[in-house]
Amino acid sequence: MTATTIHDDAPLVMPLPDRERTVGERIDTFDRLDTVEGGWGAHLRVARRTATDFRGEFAATGTPDWVTTADLYGLPYPTKFGLFRAPLSPAPYVTITNRMMVIRWTGSDGDRKTMLWEPSDVDLDANTPYFKSLADRYPDQVTDYLTDDHGRVLESLPRLGIDPADVDYLAFDHLHTQDVRRWLGTTVPQADISPNESVISAFPNANLIVQRQELEAMADLHPLQRPWYQPQTYVDLPNERIITIDGSVMLGPGVAIVKTPGHVIGNQTLVLNTSTGIWACSENVIATECLTPEHSKIPGVAKWAARWGQEVILNANTIETTAQQYNSCVLEKHLVDRAQSDSRFLQFFPSSELTGRWTSPGTSPTFVHRRIEHGSR
Ligand SMILES: [Zn+2]
Repeated sequence: MTATTIHDDAPLVMPLPDRERTVGERIDTFDRLDTVEGGWGAHLRVARRTATDFRGEFAATGTPDWVTTADLYGLPYPTKFGLFRAPLSPAPYVTITNRMMVIRWTGSDGDRKTMLWEPSDVDLDANTPYFKSLADRYPDQVTDYLTDDHGRVLESLPRLGIDPADVDYLAFDHLHTQDVRRWLGTTVPQADISPNESVISAFPNANLIVQRQELEAMADLHPLQRPWYQPQTYVDLPNERIITIDGSVMLGPGVAIVKTPGHVIGNQTLVLNTSTGIWACSENVIATECLTPEHSKIPGVAKWAARWGQEVILNANTIETTAQQYNSCVLEKHLVDRAQSDSRFLQFFPSSELTGRWTSPGTSPTFVHRRIEHGSR
């Protein structure tokens, strides 16, 4: 018999950055979602209305100068997490592709800003307890076989014509799996990656933008959250390189970060206004068809959604606050425009997008975005 490890540790001592240090202009429109009277059904109706209200005010702010994407890594992900209870496929894993997005805008002061959204440090993220446990169960050959290496963040930047010193902000939809020590540097040596000296920051001028609640939650994880985070990698980060936000903010013309809790408490969605209209990017679902499941050809999905009256198919790995995540997906659904090449699907860009692969029969997406291109460098 194997003994169960019960974690009941004291909270990690993770210094929180100064609350006064912030970024962008706060958006109040979504605050009403924090104070809805009634249950999740009432909250859902407010989410729908709020998204529609915000669309108009957001589109009027203009557009960023440049948006582009870079593929990072394709990896296996449990089918029952990515497509929740909907798919019929017996394949245990689907493939999802992690992508980084580059957003550049000019602020009202004329300053140009560059943000990397989802710059996952794939090598260090592999130490996340959930992925480590998968890797321990399968030999390297199997893992190699199921993954696609498209290039690391620092390799992609020269291809995109970006100097790491030009990057102002780094942000993620949430911090599951993320280890950002190489990006921000550390205040003391790190036994695993730099035993003799502090880690030197690869982005000397960049600040990490994160919801304050996400950092607070990470310092004191619940067992349901624990497999997905690497909290100890945040303990020695330089505090002055982290900007916490509470809620939703406009970063620049047509660039907003909107609070979308549920998948995790500090979840956030990047919302962009572009030449093709409004986009949203997060990991709340893994394929845009999960927001319009009635048009999905993935066996089981449309039928399951119809049988249970579900209008979205959640990315359900942690099921931290499931109904709230559902409502955040509906919010995203009502924020965005329809895809230009196929109006059945929305301009929702999953930061890890479901990717067809012969090793996962019955899970090929009906429609994929693969990339966003807007404006120029
Ligand atoms: Zn996650």
